[in-house]
Amino acid sequence: MSFTVAIDGPAAAGKGTIARALADHFGFAYLDTGLLYRAVGRKVLDADQPLTDTVFALKMAQGLHESDLLRDDLRNMETATAASAVAAMGDVRKALVSFQKSFAKRDGGAVLDGRDIGTVICPDADVKLFVTASEDVRAERRYKELSAKGDDTSFDAVLSALKARDAQDAKRDVAPMVQADDAVLIDTSNMSIADALAAAVDVVNKTYKSA
Ligand code: C5P
Repeated sequence: MSFTVAIDGPAAAGKGTIARALADHFGFAYLDTGLLYRAVGRKVLDADQPLTDTVFALKMAQGLHESDLLRDDLRNMETATAASAVAAMGDVRKALVSFQKSFAKRDGGAVLDGRDIGTVICPDADVKLFVTASEDVRAERRYKELSAKGDDTSFDAVLSALKARDAQDAKRDVAPMVQADDAVLIDTSNMSIADALAAAVDVVNKTYKSA
């Protein structure tokens, strides 16, 4: 039986942490859909192609392999910015739809996180969450994460990259980041990870128990 949990929200809101923990808790599979766009963006950067080259980006999206998602250079700011650029291209998004849809429908349950999961990829998801937090809190979390990995950056640089990426993701024409009408909002600004997970488990339990 399939059971789909769709999680959307802006950068560094805690979606990934909640999604992974929810998947562990319920024994569901987990897909971080941001990695798809990061992997395409990374390939465009590696090839020294402009981030406006839709034809090249589409070729990269069509040739994407699951192993491309395992690269260890997908989590930096340069790749995030490139991901947001290629994610604004309708053809690139289309090329990645069927993989995400079939992942969502797999037997045993699935959690997917991203920007358009509850609106475009899985409009009929059993549970939809929109996870957010204030800009400052999100930038602080991402700054700490990057610094811990040895990334030489400043809080201000992280904050402004995050704002620019959120604006681009929310304002693009195709599949913009937006809270689905039937999504439950979780604001993690003042929540511990344990509290945020507990809130998410509560929401899922309401539907999962009766499924
Ligand atoms: O979630 P993450 O920050 O890794 O996503 C990187 C970028 O990929 C986002 O800024 C967004 O532009 C794009 N993305 C998207 N749709 C998704 C997931 C990610 O457009 N479902």
